Amino acid sequence: MVKARKYVVKNLFQGFPKKSDYEVVETELPPLKHGEILVKTEWVSVDPYLRAYNYLTPAPYDQFSYQVGVILESKSAQYPVGKRIVSHKGWCDYYVLDTTVEPEFFDRIYLLPNMQGISPSVAIGAAGMPGITAYFGFLEVCKPKEGETVVVTGAAGAVGSLVGQIAKIKGCKVIGFAGSDAKVQWLEKELGFDKAFNYKTVDAYKALKEAAPKGVDCYFDNVGGEISSIIINQMNEYGRVAVCGSISAYNENPGNVPKASILQPAVVSKQLTISGFVVSRWTDRWAEGVTQLITWIKEGKLKAREHITEGFDNVFDAFVGMLNGENTGKAVVKF
Ligand code: NDP
Repeated sequence: MVKARKYVVKNLFQGFPKKSDYEVVETELPPLKHGEILVKTEWVSVDPYLRAYNYLTPAPYDQFSYQVGVILESKSAQYPVGKRIVSHKGWCDYYVLDTTVEPEFFDRIYLLPNMQGISPSVAIGAAGMPGITAYFGFLEVCKPKEGETVVVTGAAGAVGSLVGQIAKIKGCKVIGFAGSDAKVQWLEKELGFDKAFNYKTVDAYKALKEAAPKGVDCYFDNVGGEISSIIINQMNEYGRVAVCGSISAYNENPGNVPKASILQPAVVSKQLTISGFVVSRWTDRWAEGVTQLITWIKEGKLKAREHITEGFDNVFDAFVGMLNGENTGKAVVKF
């Protein structure tokens, strides 16, 4: 018998998630049935959607997230002992999974791709869901052309840091906004952003006017709120906005979300296209995206920085730390 622990969300969060919103539940895992595997978790992802989807999921629920684990026992020929898988089983240390069930998007599992020597944790970061979001979300929604000016918010995070680097690969001028001077330094000195700003200390309107005197062609929006209105109001004719997320509002009461300046004058006069997207749109092209991202990492064209927290007991702190901007690159927890 294997003893397993998991985090269960007891309540809908009010404001920032609290540790008391969670309960750690211990269970004894049953013997495997046909088609099942026993997995030991090695790496767990903490992401903004864990906060955003809290409203959409009736509590109590097991805290989901992407994770990488190693197969300890198997009654499935497709998933042999010793192989690693990527699953959405979240914050638990051991689990049993039925591989014969036809999964929804989030519950898909797949064998760890050939990481070519890169850490398996990158399969839930730059070569996983956040990487696919950046790769297809930016290229398919923004449709950047060489020489165009691209702005990305949340620029030093998992998705944003990849979007900026992919934009550089595609020959664009890249401007990023992030939440600390250290992040700004990293974006400019290590990732090759043409310009980056600390949105907490600059006048974003003036900073962008100076950094992009000819205007903005593509905006990859990770944060929403007033800064997005400022950027969208400086876009060029036929500019494209990929709305990826709105983390500036995730910890607000849904009845009291922040107000931002209206966009309609710019949208009309500049004939802008503003498109929301969800990464599941590219489920059928997932492997293609993963292969390209791993190739770029191996070639040194893409830096896949991680912010690593250690230990099952610290996963909640890692989650709230990410929401507070403690991470540079992808926030992951090593179990
Ligand atoms: P990050 O690694 O970027 O981590 C979150 C970051 O958000 C923090 O590091 C912090 O950085 C920033 N942040 C927190 N509060 C605010 C605020 N009030 N205003 C501005 N920035 C803030 O997370 P991800 O890269 O995983 O996700 C980025 C965005 O992409 C999120 O909005 C997420 O929901 C979205 N997303 C959407 C997907 C889709 O399918 N549409 C898929 C995956 C992600 P800082 O120090 O800069 O403040």
